[in-house]
Amino acid sequence: MKKVILLNLSALLFFMGCGASKSVSTTTNQGGSPTNSSTKKSTYWQQHVDYKMEIDMDVNNYQYQGKQKLVYTNNSPDVLNKVFYHLFFNAFQPGSEMDARLQSIEDPDSRMVTTVGDVKESRISKLKPNEIGYINVTSLKQNGSFVNHITAGTILEVTLNKAILPGESVTFDMVFDAQVPVQIRRSGRNNAEGVTLSMTQWYPKLSEYDFEGWHAYPYIGREFHGVWGDFDLKLTIDKNYVVGGTGYLQPNPKVNGNKKTLHFKAPKVHDFTWAADPDYIHDTLQVPNGPMLNFFYKKDLPAENLQFWKDLQPKTVEMMQYFSENIGEYPYDQYSVIQGGDGGMEYAMCTLITGKRKFGSLMGVTAHELAHTWFQFLLATNEGKHEWMDEGFTSYISHYAMDYINKKNADNPAAGAYRGYDYLAKSGKEKPQGTHADRYATNLAYGITAYNKGEVFLSQLGYVIGQDNLKKTLKQYFNDWAFKHPTPNDFIRVAEKVSGLELEWYLTDWTLTTNTIDYGVKNIEGNKVTLERIGDMPMPIDLEVNYTDGTTESIYIPLQMMRGEKPTNATLIKDWAWAYPTYTFTAKKAVKSVEIDPKNLMADINKTNNKK
Ligand SMILES: [Zn+2]
Repeated sequence: MKKVILLNLSALLFFMGCGASKSVSTTTNQGGSPTNSSTKKSTYWQQHVDYKMEIDMDVNNYQYQGKQKLVYTNNSPDVLNKVFYHLFFNAFQPGSEMDARLQSIEDPDSRMVTTVGDVKESRISKLKPNEIGYINVTSLKQNGSFVNHITAGTILEVTLNKAILPGESVTFDMVFDAQVPVQIRRSGRNNAEGVTLSMTQWYPKLSEYDFEGWHAYPYIGREFHGVWGDFDLKLTIDKNYVVGGTGYLQPNPKVNGNKKTLHFKAPKVHDFTWAADPDYIHDTLQVPNGPMLNFFYKKDLPAENLQFWKDLQPKTVEMMQYFSENIGEYPYDQYSVIQGGDGGMEYAMCTLITGKRKFGSLMGVTAHELAHTWFQFLLATNEGKHEWMDEGFTSYISHYAMDYINKKNADNPAAGAYRGYDYLAKSGKEKPQGTHADRYATNLAYGITAYNKGEVFLSQLGYVIGQDNLKKTLKQYFNDWAFKHPTPNDFIRVAEKVSGLELEWYLTDWTLTTNTIDYGVKNIEGNKVTLERIGDMPMPIDLEVNYTDGTTESIYIPLQMMRGEKPTNATLIKDWAWAYPTYTFTAKKAVKSVEIDPKNLMADINKTNNKK
């Protein structure tokens, strides 16, 4: 049994790109832009970028020349003497940190290694010079004067000639040449399904500077954090290529010989992605009162898969409507589902997903990646530090969306996530959710912590504050924090204000420790019931009491440190203050049996003592 669980989990992790997978959804099934609202953020600030790029792509050798004009506005109260750019493609070179990590981690991503006998070899280590990725910055000017810069792996370190003062805007003019790597992870050329160009994290991208300082994370494995702003891309490419991605294509592309120049504009985004292939089919479908959906997929897909891509289109309309209704209105005029990449990954106004999937998997991955538009893109948490807010919240809402659209009516659409978390909590491999995404000892621990434990965070919050309060919290969170960089504390403060309950304990114990929940029924004697707290994490208690006369009563025991109780129809009895290991109450009649949390919404790691 244990082995079976293990296999399911590794299958789950295998498919994790940003993460959605057939196994994730299967497992679970078994079981106008917002403005500042009432919440005042007087101390909140964020940097601003305006990119203008001209790119000339050579589809024969996968090399491209780039010019980038970046107007950077320092909205911080700080004087900046340096800036940093990400050069993500440099990760795809033998000897890079990503390569070193692949060679040292005990459970490397199976897409990034080849297995010869028992030996797993890093695919990056085998790349030849014409197969590697690189971004080579040949010149950089600050307001017209050359500035010093050095490339350290995937980061460009720039020492400024003149500091950028608070409130000041400067212009950086960069010239670079680059090569698209053979696809190893997410981005690259000629992916396993034959898509020519999956262009993600492909341009020199300014690092984010926020209240915690610079976030110039080297590209080792995962997760991103970008600066909000406006993008303008002129892409020159072979005229036979069909291009989809972030941004609105401007009319009347220029054609010059064998090449055409496409002009894209993307307002209010923090990333820009595109994919190109000469053999894409391009379908569109309008969401009523919503965006135009675009679907790009290869015409050489097997007939069955071509049909799945057709069937996916009206379902994507329903997904868009579900997320817009349950979180907040989708604020752009377009969204594209594009065959590309190596699994599924979310980007601005689009996703890249692999296309040769069964229908359930194709729907599941699309629902997950589309949901990321809210919990990653619009509510742009720092994914390196708080990956669980991105993957976990996305998993939660996409599982509810799939449950609704497929009319499954599951008792708990997040049940699979509880099972994953339970396995990790008992495995000895768990690290706190506050661990940086790159620095978990294993991919397994990262995956379950970000996706499953993150999903349980929300589902269980519904248990703590009540389901209606959770729904209101998600909408208020979007309303207050869309187009910004919310932190875990920002989220929990919204939940506190919506519910009127104190929740700092919940955020702290669940995300910054590996404390577990274990409550049990200790003793029943006549009308007297004694419960005990065995785990270190506090929780309020939903209790079902069965009386000897055959009647049943729902009882709610508030957690004292919450300073209140959730809305409930259950009988309210006295608070339980955390430090007391046991709690005794007298019921109105003789008790036959009791059960803690009969709906299984609390991630109690020992359910065997929950009933007596
Ligand atoms: Zn994801």
